[in-house]
Amino acid sequence: MTQHCVRCAAPATIVMSFLYGERTIWLEDLTKPVIPGAGYAMCEDHAGRLTPPVGWTLVDRRRPVRPLFASLEVA
Ligand SMILES: [Zn+2]
Repeated sequence: MTQHCVRCAAPATIVMSFLYGERTIWLEDLTKPVIPGAGYAMCEDHAGRLTPPVGWTLVDRRRPVRPLFASLEVA
């Protein structure tokens, strides 16, 4: 099952979820279907451009090794 970004029609690879009470936003790899209301599917592009509101904390739990960008850093 392919999930699509909530901002555009691109295939989603990231899940964004948040807890309003804790003012925390999490970004995680999309490994299972997103539960409606519990998270938002996003493409790499939109997840990367996400900026938390003032006073909020963004926790990036995505895999640290991202081959696409690692090769660019080497070059
Ligand atoms: Zn998108």
